[in-house]
Amino acid sequence: MDLVSTCKNQLANFRIKELKDVLTQLGISKQGRKQDLVDRILGLISDEEVSNTHGSAKKKIIGKEGVAKLVDDAYRKMQIADASDLATTRQTSLDICDVKHKVETEDSSFLSVKICCPCGTSLHTDSMIQCIDPGCQVQQHVSCVIIPGKPMEGLPSIPAIFHCEMCRISRADPFCVTVEHLISPVKLIAPTLPSDGTSPVLKIEKTFQLTKLDSDLLQSAEYDIQAWCILLNDSVSFRMQWPQYSELHVNGYGVRTLNRPGSQLLGANGRDDGALITMYVGEGVNKISFSACDSRLFCFGVRLLNRRTVEQVLALIPKEADGEPLEDAVARVCRCIGGGVPRANEDSDSDSDLEVIADTVTVNLRCPMSGSRIKVAGRFKPCIHMGCFDLETFVELNQRSRKAMAVSNLSQELLPGRYHY
Ligand SMILES: [Zn+2]
Ligand SMILES: [Zn+2]
Ligand SMILES: [Zn+2]
Repeated sequence: MDLVSTCKNQLANFRIKELKDVLTQLGISKQGRKQDLVDRILGLISDEEVSNTHGSAKKKIIGKEGVAKLVDDAYRKMQIADASDLATTRQTSLDICDVKHKVETEDSSFLSVKICCPCGTSLHTDSMIQCIDPGCQVQQHVSCVIIPGKPMEGLPSIPAIFHCEMCRISRADPFCVTVEHLISPVKLIAPTLPSDGTSPVLKIEKTFQLTKLDSDLLQSAEYDIQAWCILLNDSVSFRMQWPQYSELHVNGYGVRTLNRPGSQLLGANGRDDGALITMYVGEGVNKISFSACDSRLFCFGVRLLNRRTVEQVLALIPKEADGEPLEDAVARVCRCIGGGVPRANEDSDSDSDLEVIADTVTVNLRCPMSGSRIKVAGRFKPCIHMGCFDLETFVELNQRSRKAMAVSNLSQELLPGRYHY
């Protein structure tokens, strides 16, 4: 393309602003309609003599190529400006979208997407996973919270049911209700990985603020502050677990976390308990440091909790009406009496589906835990057996042993003796 055509094309894209800029640089008149300005510049580079060339002196000095270069420069500048303008516009429209999105999500809380990850960043990445708890639904980074049991290649498989660590800790102990996370759950990271294959030292140091309101609550025995830890990829979702050789210091005081030897993996009943640090903290800033020696990945947090009484926990357990439907219960009992206990790998056409042939069946109404007659029979929803236990005894024992249970899985049951079969 020759000089004139190139300039013509570029000038065709010019706005008044660019035309005036070029004319200013050339030192010639900027007066007239847009087409006049275009013609005036073109005249300087075309061979045709323009009758009324303003400031032709300059033309002689810089020449056609010089004018063409001015036009070219102005053209490039315009493109760069346009590109950044476009970026700004895009940014602005994004912001508007965001604002709109926020407003929408405030209106309908079930649509809200919160990113709250133990890595501490709330950036959205390509692979996110959402907590299944309807009241929570926080999103976390798959790479932060899904840890394959064994080292493997590629992405770990995503579980169909995922609970974030806040929901896991809330369910780990039905006798405690989380009031507030004073330290948001945070992943314990080893500052250095030992090269000799031994377990790395995990360390964390945090401060947290205790408000006047919080410390007033702590005057009541129903409130406590608890430091807790869970194993991120624990096969049992709802339990606490401290890493090996855990050491906790609160405001300089050593606090016991384990009631087991440091090398042992779990406490009694296959679970650990949180560490109560209420007596070591006060209103204002509190300092907490934790260290351990373990090669697995843990999440650590501090929460303000409210205690539930046995009565309150009992009230949470689904009532008979919300438990197993009677037909299902009868079918289950029939299976137990008739065909024995179906095994997981048993065919559907096995004996277990046969009609009950026994005339009378003796059912034991003695609670295996208390040894007394069952008052309110309890069972776990997924259980396929006939045996029940006294619900109150079970809950009380759990409160004492601090062995947690999934309350939602428990249900009150018709006393077995009340079935007519
Ligand atoms: Zn993360
Ligand atoms: Zn959750
Ligand atoms: Zn069972």
